[in-house]
Amino acid sequence: MMKINITRRKFLTSSAVVAVSQIATKAFAAEPTTKATTDQVSTSEDYTYEVNYTDAEWKERLTEAEFTILREGETEEAKSSPLWKEKREGLYHCKGCELTVYESKEKTVLSKGWVFFRHSKPDTVLTGIDLFTHYSRGEPKEDKVIESHCRRCGSHLGHILYINKQILHCINGASLIFKPTV
Ligand SMILES: [Zn+2]
Repeated sequence: MMKINITRRKFLTSSAVVAVSQIATKAFAAEPTTKATTDQVSTSEDYTYEVNYTDAEWKERLTEAEFTILREGETEEAKSSPLWKEKREGLYHCKGCELTVYESKEKTVLSKGWVFFRHSKPDTVLTGIDLFTHYSRGEPKEDKVIESHCRRCGSHLGHILYINKQILHCINGASLIFKPTV
């Protein structure tokens, strides 16, 4: 089994931040991709988040552990957040700005111990590229993985991975606020 160990990295330095909705538009378009579509793709160089704080302000708003996950791209320990096994109906909001990013109807519980969703809510998640190390026959090997972060404040939520023959959002519970429906 592939062991994932997300390496510490500078926040949001990847050069290929692309809106998920735009990826979907390109992937499922019946017509060949046009130049106009290509021109609409945002990159990390020209994308401006609606919610912006300085690092000092983020540190006032978040715990130390939350800061390393949301603002520095760290991954929490498996099963460290009770949300991994949460089964109640409700909405999951970004811890950084409270944007509603995931819904319980798209959640699936896996014993791996992070918070898994089949889909995000439309137009709420942006993707980037994160480096990680996995082990093949005991040897460390560098590879790339898609990261998920909030469209409104840029906070790192988790990663989009292929697990059990499904593409799933593997999200840190520390990046989320859960509000049950009832
Ligand atoms: Zn946010």
